[in-house]
Amino acid sequence: MTHAHPFLTTEQKKELSDIAQRIVAPGKGILAADESTGSIAKRFQSINAENTEENRRLYRQLLFAADDRIKPCIGGVIFFHETLYQKDDSGKPFPQLIKDKGIVVGIKVDKGVVPLAGTNGETTTQGLDGLYERCAQYKKDGADFAKWRCVLKITPTTPSSLAIMENANVLARYASICQMVSGCCHGIVPIVEPEILPDGDHDLQRCQYVTEKVLAAVYKALSDHHVYLEGTLLKPNMVTAGHSCPQKYAAQEIAMATVTALRRTVPPAVPGVTFLSGGQSEEEATINLNAINNCPLHKPWALTFSYGRALQASALKAWGGKKENGKACQEEYIKRALNNSQAALGKYVSTGDKGTAAGESLFVANHAY
Ligand code: 13P
Repeated sequence: MTHAHPFLTTEQKKELSDIAQRIVAPGKGILAADESTGSIAKRFQSINAENTEENRRLYRQLLFAADDRIKPCIGGVIFFHETLYQKDDSGKPFPQLIKDKGIVVGIKVDKGVVPLAGTNGETTTQGLDGLYERCAQYKKDGADFAKWRCVLKITPTTPSSLAIMENANVLARYASICQMVSGCCHGIVPIVEPEILPDGDHDLQRCQYVTEKVLAAVYKALSDHHVYLEGTLLKPNMVTAGHSCPQKYAAQEIAMATVTALRRTVPPAVPGVTFLSGGQSEEEATINLNAINNCPLHKPWALTFSYGRALQASALKAWGGKKENGKACQEEYIKRALNNSQAALGKYVSTGDKGTAAGESLFVANHAY
């Protein structure tokens, strides 16, 4: 058995846990705006907008410049590399625009999924080479947290133990590199994202079982890699039945399965769990988050959102790639942010107001990001 060789000073630990706490302060969650150029192409295609760098900048500017009503709702924004270096119309860098609202800037640092040989279509995520140097640069350029997404699939034969082990290990290696970043300022809080895709016809119980096995492996690997849990966040899927499962479950059942899985696997030292929306409709993602926060089990972590599609679908539709729709786009985004903020507090009351796309399924088969 090895002995502890502490790699973080008390000051470094404090910085990491302070950043994590700020992101998931009560009522706050994360806007995931880190769609790669390929992913945003698909989103833009749905509204017939051309996928140019300028259009991407204009669209992100609308989200980032939304008025102060979002301040109590959004604790962090995840950027894609290109966006971190873009500016608003007045020349202010996007990271500064976000920070001026008291919001923490994050950056996607993984380089996407690649096949795991000999498996039934399973993957691991690449991007470890040069990661320390990239993180140190991103820290200088304004980022205080990072995201790395791994993907697991439920079929009768997956996830395999190889996929569970490999993805847990690569997430832990990434997390330890982020925390080691030092220099003029130090510490990037890693968001650890082992996404179990909703594709398939499996039931709620199967998703809960797989989620427990995946999260248990992730926290074993994080311990093996000496990751400082207080300075991390978890971004998991909610426990839901597969997209093609004939049986439908109530939000309370989804909440109970999700909180049960988390309680069995996620240490209380982790400050927050920031769920991805994973193809749920905007309204479903809000209702389920609200139910999770009302689940009658002890919950030692903040339970909040880190939504991409479920914060942006109505906003994107309202924008439609047209300048004159900027205000409408921002109003839709603010509405979702306010609703999800209420849900993160367990206080959301559905008004039945569907918004532009609130009831629409946002499911994308075999989703890439
Ligand atoms: P969705 O909320 O659209 O699933 O995406 C969040 C995300 O960042 C996935 O990595």
